[in-house]
Amino acid sequence: MGQLVERPFRIVIDPGHGGIDSGAVSETGIQEKDLVLAIAKQLQADHNEFDGKPAEYFLTRYTDTLISLKDRTKLATALQADLFISLHYNDSPSKTASGIEVYVYNHESPYRQQSIWLGHLLEKRLVVLTGQKSRGVRFANFQVLRELKHTCPAVLVELGFIDHYHNRLKFKIL
Ligand SMILES: [Zn+2]
Repeated sequence: MGQLVERPFRIVIDPGHGGIDSGAVSETGIQEKDLVLAIAKQLQADHNEFDGKPAEYFLTRYTDTLISLKDRTKLATALQADLFISLHYNDSPSKTASGIEVYVYNHESPYRQQSIWLGHLLEKRLVVLTGQKSRGVRFANFQVLRELKHTCPAVLVELGFIDHYHNRLKFKIL
């Protein structure tokens, strides 16, 4: 009889964009790709558990390189991830737009309820940490969310608007 070895929970953090794809750029030249990479690395350095359980954190990229959306979700699938969190910053022509948004896949998925739960958890924590307002948990057919619908709970977080990046984000969102 095989022995069941309980492995640590696996969380894949996906810093959006990279390389030639800078993502959103603030008026002062701050690039989304750099901010989300820094936050992802900090998250990984600061955490070894999730919800009281031992957890390992993996990043979809560790440097300033562009990875296709497909390869990001392939990595999560290959790792048999238990959670996938894609990190982004918002942009808006209206420079006064602000707040945190978390996206969940907008169609049926075996992980729908868990994704919504994770979305609300992150939304709540980010609002408290940063003092930004909540723009709510929203639903969208984003590729990374769609491709992981049979893999694990997955969310895409908009950590705020790039022009307000200097807010009090402390990185400790989990
Ligand atoms: Zn983005």
